[in-house]
Amino acid sequence: MTPDLMEEGARRMREYAQKRAQATASGGREASFGRLLKLGEPDFAHGVALYLEDITVSFDGFKALNALSLTVNVGELRCIIGPNGAGKTTMMDCITGKTRPDTGRVFFGSTIDLLRLTEPQIAQIGVGRKFQKPTVYEELSVFENLELALAADRRVRASLLSRLSGAQLDRIGEVLTLIHLRGEAQRTAGLLSHGQKQWLEIGMLLMQDPKLLLLDEPVAGMTDEETERTAELFLSLEGQHSLVVVEHDMKFVEQLTQGHKKVTVLHEGSVLAEGKLADVQANDKVVEVYLGR
Ligand code: ADP
Ligand code: MG
Repeated sequence: MTPDLMEEGARRMREYAQKRAQATASGGREASFGRLLKLGEPDFAHGVALYLEDITVSFDGFKALNALSLTVNVGELRCIIGPNGAGKTTMMDCITGKTRPDTGRVFFGSTIDLLRLTEPQIAQIGVGRKFQKPTVYEELSVFENLELALAADRRVRASLLSRLSGAQLDRIGEVLTLIHLRGEAQRTAGLLSHGQKQWLEIGMLLMQDPKLLLLDEPVAGMTDEETERTAELFLSLEGQHSLVVVEHDMKFVEQLTQGHKKVTVLHEGSVLAEGKLADVQANDKVVEVYLGR
């Protein structure tokens, strides 16, 4: 996507907001109070899922992100690597609305300006995020956790009050298979291994069918076998979802990129290098950063 297309998207959104605001005597303030903003459908026709431009985030004068720009395509699996403190988590915070950047733009598809949406709206519109620590409902079964995730989706909550439809049951079954927990459906989530809890949380995200998945250090604390299975899972999601995976484990990144996919190296809040894993690993600047000068 070119910046002029993004500009056009932003212009249309402004125009739309203006028209709405002029439609009532109070300029839209009273009319919109207390009801949910109707979100426009994201537009992925131009092939871009996520577009960050010139993002800067300062914490007491320290720039955690410094003019960061990044584009992730529809269906792409992008790995982001970089030393501790590079700004990887802060970048995810900006995408999900947890942190508001001082400057810059964040677009989902070509028309949705994420900086104008709240955290719940961003989740609702199709951006799913997995945090470093698993956050599942320990006292509920695996199945119930997935059911609950389905209910968190506003579109289906009403119909869930009584019982699950056949399609919803099918979807839970599909996700159980994807996350390797089919045999554990009735097990209490608290009894799962650390790796299995991570998968369950990914499964809960998948229940809401996010277009974009943000995964922050998803294999931290996993066994080698769990790590390999997680890579298989992500590879199976590629294409249907766009994935942004932040990870330190190079073997895992190698498995995900399969020798050809683009990797982004973040350092001091901006992109230090981008390209095939082997190429960025041979890059002098990258080597210097990882060896710590
Ligand atoms: P990474 O995930 O790449 O390890 P982070 O995005 O967590 O890096 O942090 C980037 C930098 O910003 C670090 O130096 C961190 O200490 C700082 N930082 C992150 N969040 C805050 C915050 N809420 N207040 C102050 N400094 C922060
Ligand atoms: Mg981090």
